[in-house]
Amino acid sequence: MKHMISFEEALKTVLSSAKQKGTSKKKFTKTLHRVLREDVFSDMDMPPWDKAAVDGYACRRIDLAKELEVIETVPAGKMPRQKVGAGQCIKIMTGAPVPQGADTVIMVEDTQETSDGKIRFLKEKTKSNIAYHAEDIQKGDLLIPRNTLLKPKHIAILATAGCVRPQVSKKVKVAVISTGDELVEPHQVASGSKIRNSNAYQLMAQIQEMGAKADYTGIAKDTEESTRKLLKKAFHKNDVILLTGGVSMGDFDYVPQILKEMGVEIIFKSIAVQPGRPTVFGIRNGQYIFGLPGNPVSSFVQFEMLVKPLIYKIMGFDYTPLTQHLPAGARLFRKNTKRMSWKPVKIISGKIFPLEYHGSAHINSLIDADALVAIPRGKEAIEEGEVVAAHIIR
Ligand code: AMP
Ligand code: MG
Repeated sequence: MKHMISFEEALKTVLSSAKQKGTSKKKFTKTLHRVLREDVFSDMDMPPWDKAAVDGYACRRIDLAKELEVIETVPAGKMPRQKVGAGQCIKIMTGAPVPQGADTVIMVEDTQETSDGKIRFLKEKTKSNIAYHAEDIQKGDLLIPRNTLLKPKHIAILATAGCVRPQVSKKVKVAVISTGDELVEPHQVASGSKIRNSNAYQLMAQIQEMGAKADYTGIAKDTEESTRKLLKKAFHKNDVILLTGGVSMGDFDYVPQILKEMGVEIIFKSIAVQPGRPTVFGIRNGQYIFGLPGNPVSSFVQFEMLVKPLIYKIMGFDYTPLTQHLPAGARLFRKNTKRMSWKPVKIISGKIFPLEYHGSAHINSLIDADALVAIPRGKEAIEEGEVVAAHIIR
């Protein structure tokens, strides 16, 4: 196959072309899946003071064997008014500041009230049950470095640090165009020679899952005019444009030619991978265009392997896929060794197993798939017991 480049080269080419998108300040509650573009520091110590880690009584460790007089009750959110002296204790709730004089909080479950209103510790030993001042975070600590992809755990830290308008990447806008006269939309009945458009909806879900904005442009007919019209619309306001179908060798596969006519510099047209060989990548005025193959498994896999890393890079995030190195529980085999091949696999008890897979049109083969496993070029099989990197797609 002419101009067929390796997957590694394709990925390198795509990534090296990526330019980071600008930033804006956003309300922190709206920043899930965005990429943080500033360092976030703490403006306070955590805990801000020695804090009771349990509900109980704050007292002096040397007094543990004694009956203790309860001189005060401190709920969370209040400061203790008194010091704990010899033979005394202060009833304290989880999260309240430990009073001066106390070095231990005994758990309420480990105590008993005496007849004269004092309390007694029922055990021999106890931990201090104090979370010490600044043991988690010190004022000025770097909490989240720039270029972090924000997940729920980071939102908690932004809240803790009072960073309510962090600087994040602007949303990457991704247009999706399906091509093909055989396509009808999902709400329509696919009769005769028609099938439902699944790629566009799969791609939009993949885009949205990353925190990017999916802009559905529609189905282009297999004519030059229709393809041109939808591309023009997509070029109008998007950073990345994804087309599916129309990139192989059929009589009506116009996409590469029209892209060229519309000023797209085609960087590559074919990758030595399976599925996804006829994947086109081009650039036009800082916009990135992918012509993905029409078959749904190819489109899914090429998004996962090439488009996703590019979109993350534009967002300012250095993405590495989640991989697990696992042994094969059974032999994974393929006939044609000219291309690198991605196989859907299931993970059972820490081993990978092949799934029934009829090829790139087999849309429901991915339903049971936990991961994709690559069989390198020139290699016919992964033998049972061989350890391979499974690219998790769960
Ligand atoms: P093409 O690359 O246009 O030759 O399409 C390859 C195969 O993928 C054909 O069987 C198409 O019917 C199918 N296909 C193309 N686009 C879609 C789509 N949006 N949804 C589902 N199948 C598609
Ligand atoms: Mg087609």
